[in-house]
Amino acid sequence: MFDLTGKTALVTGASGGIGSEIARALAKQGARLALSGSNASKLRSFREELQDQFGGDHVEITCDLSNRDSVEHLVPATVDTLGSISILVNNAGITRDNLAMRMKDEEWDQVMQINLQAAFRLMRAAARPMMKARFGRIVSITSIVGATGNPGQMNYAAAKAGLTGMSKSLAQELATRGVTVNCVAPGFIRTAMTDELPDTQKEALNAKIPMGRMGEGRDIGAAVAYLASDEAGYVTGQTLHVNGGMAMLG
Ligand code: NAP
Repeated sequence: MFDLTGKTALVTGASGGIGSEIARALAKQGARLALSGSNASKLRSFREELQDQFGGDHVEITCDLSNRDSVEHLVPATVDTLGSISILVNNAGITRDNLAMRMKDEEWDQVMQINLQAAFRLMRAAARPMMKARFGRIVSITSIVGATGNPGQMNYAAAKAGLTGMSKSLAQELATRGVTVNCVAPGFIRTAMTDELPDTQKEALNAKIPMGRMGEGRDIGAAVAYLASDEAGYVTGQTLHVNGGMAMLG
């Protein structure tokens, strides 16, 4: 099940907490990966770790997602180095939180550039080779807050909700071409950042989750591996919520 042998995948934010688990899940299923991020040395050491763990011939491609030219280069560079692009995972994302009345234009713009505009440009670039190949899987990592909203995150929630609407639109455009377009929406996921929270704050967060605990990066990796697989070929325009029951949507 979910065998990705022979598939090639571009994963943005591949060196991050969730991106690295997505990369592990895809590599474990046999995909060859183009690992992307802005920090070259972080990416290189992660690629070496991935190859030690699962083997495979993966590459790293640095890209600053806040720079238009750098983004436009990423899909062609993936096709050049891997020979094709069967899977695109828009995972990279940033937060620049502030209450609405204090939110600066730059905080809005940075989140839109990296979380939404870069994803649009990567999807647009990946659509052509995927259509030609009559196979493609585009998966974008959104967030529970794109559906529920969150105080202090007007910019982030707007970008994540935008990603959902964008994915549904592209899903309809590409549905007859063997290309599916879906989202995975994590709830609270345990990362280095949440590990540092005081126990009382962790307990307060866990109390909001019916499963009583935060999710793990590998929970998101597994959801992406499923949506990237042949078995998910009839699933498109959907959001898979992975949140321990925190919000039961749809
Ligand atoms: P993270 O650990 O902070 O990783 C972010 C990744 O994005 C890093 O690999 C970083 O690479 C990359 N990135 C940031 N700015 C970039 C830029 N300008 N150009 C290129 N790459 C850039 O974040 P995470 O927690 O794993 O989150 C991954 C995704 O899940 C995000 O879309 C986030 O919104 C979503 N999410 C997370 C949670 C959670 O609880 N953690 C919950 C819901 C949704 P470099 O360091 O190399 O720049």
